Amino acid sequence: IDGMTTNHRIALIPGDGIGAEVLPPAQQVLDVMARRYGFNLSYTSYGDWSCERYLREGAMMPADGIDQLRDKDAILLGAVGYPGVPDHVSLWGLLIPIRRGFRQYVNLRPIRVFEGIDSPVRRARPGEVDLVVVRENVEGEYSEAGGRLNAGFPDEMAIQETVFTRAGVTRVLDYAFMLASRRTGRLTSATKSNGIVHTMPFWDQLVAERAASFAQVAWDQEHIDALAAKLVLEPARFDVVVASNLFGDILSDLAAAVAGSIGIAPAANLNPEREFPSMFEPVHGSAPDIAGRGIANPLGAIWAAAMMLDHLGHPAAARDITDAIASVLAKTDTRTPDLGGTATTAEFTEKLIELL
Ligand code: ATP
Ligand code: MG
Repeated sequence: IDGMTTNHRIALIPGDGIGAEVLPPAQQVLDVMARRYGFNLSYTSYGDWSCERYLREGAMMPADGIDQLRDKDAILLGAVGYPGVPDHVSLWGLLIPIRRGFRQYVNLRPIRVFEGIDSPVRRARPGEVDLVVVRENVEGEYSEAGGRLNAGFPDEMAIQETVFTRAGVTRVLDYAFMLASRRTGRLTSATKSNGIVHTMPFWDQLVAERAASFAQVAWDQEHIDALAAKLVLEPARFDVVVASNLFGDILSDLAAAVAGSIGIAPAANLNPEREFPSMFEPVHGSAPDIAGRGIANPLGAIWAAAMMLDHLGHPAAARDITDAIASVLAKTDTRTPDLGGTATTAEFTEKLIELL
């Protein structure tokens, strides 16, 4: 609209450890893009939503936390996690309420082996590996259904139920097939219907049903064990990999490792209908071992910021950022220590912005 600048309201949740060190570089890159493409980003920072807050006050975020985020256009998250605080606290105290509260049922994790990065996998040649894991993000194996019985008795047991709903599986499959049709038209579904005899056959059935509506997509399915092996041996064979919550969690970490460093990989928690804000974050955690030293690799957060701009309707700006990531790795020796270099987070960010 003439004379009006698009404004995007961004919630920043730096979290713990290096989370707070990688968000400022991402913001710097975003601000360059806002100037170049003429949109406006207004940030609200939730600086103390973290495990440190949990240790002080017994909660990762305030009771009305979800309501505070509701009117935002997107959420950019650093990382949450702190030594001594169990992972399930940060997961159930912040990440899962946001994912479920805002129906972010797609977890999108792109993986690329960039020129200039050594993959630990010999056959993962730069440029050839360019895939996306689409992970179902709100149901499946990570359910609260189940319990512990007979504590202290010899027949003590734990039961954990997996919940797949037709609506919940279908919507993430639709997203994955749509994405595959816009990319190379190939989709692989992760299954385990030989061992998991109720839920996975239902998943497979729904994949076959949805596939009928996407005739242009060539699809297949692989058992999760074989698929894990193939992603290591022949990652270039894959384009879109769609998986349940647990399988997708495992595969996306595996694929990020194939790409050379966990410091590079981003994740988008998407509410495709845009009823609620989506959330963008690096895949890595708070990395307490290197926190406070200014050497964290900011690429995961910067790539996540690019995915955020794409979601907000600025695909050209998003491409500029991923092009700059590819350039800084292919054309310069500037690297953070996780990639074998000596640059600090700030030096590496400066180099990337120069190329941008
Ligand atoms: P959390 O408890 O928050 O998950 P973590 O100890 O599991 O934290 P991760 O962040 O998952 O740590 O990463 C594991 C290791 O990878 C870290 O110990 C760190 O050395 C390295 N690492 C992770 N992210 C980065 C990064 N952005 N830059 C450099 N090294 C990183
Ligand atoms: Mg971790």
